[in-house]
Amino acid sequence: MVTDVMILNSRVKRQLNQQKLLNGLTGCLISLTMNIPGTDKTSPDIAEVHLHSLNAIESLCNKQGYKVLYKEVHNHKTGPEGFICLENEGQMIKKMLIEYEEKNEVGRLLDIDVIDSFQGLISRKRFNLPSRKCFLCDENANVCRRNGTHSIIELQEFITDKMEGYLNTIHENH
Ligand SMILES: [Zn+2]
Repeated sequence: MVTDVMILNSRVKRQLNQQKLLNGLTGCLISLTMNIPGTDKTSPDIAEVHLHSLNAIESLCNKQGYKVLYKEVHNHKTGPEGFICLENEGQMIKKMLIEYEEKNEVGRLLDIDVIDSFQGLISRKRFNLPSRKCFLCDENANVCRRNGTHSIIELQEFITDKMEGYLNTIHENH
């Protein structure tokens, strides 16, 4: 269980770490965190889905010929965090990762930021994409969050089901 203050602090620390990783880099940084509502931000399943997704993103970069310079993973109480530094420009990486996210079973649970060393954060808006939809309905996710449309329990059930399905598939294929 984490508090709002812990979440805010973790965000500040993450931004500092991102700046440190971008320092001296010509290319872009991928930052992967999990999008988990409620006060329990990590669990063995969440950490496994995160690590598996980070590795999948790394393989995807390699397969596309993008050069991975560095990777790191942290497992904080406030949620797992992963970073990948690439020597490539951020816009095309973001485009590739939006597609990855949309095709992936747990894509909706991933927060994938791409920060270019010159252009800064590459937002979905650059690709004329709408903001992300709610987990449970067709409304904009921020609207449902603000209005408290769905209970935390409903949201957690959705997330647990998604993660279980994904992890079962991974475990069957090994
Ligand atoms: Zn909704």
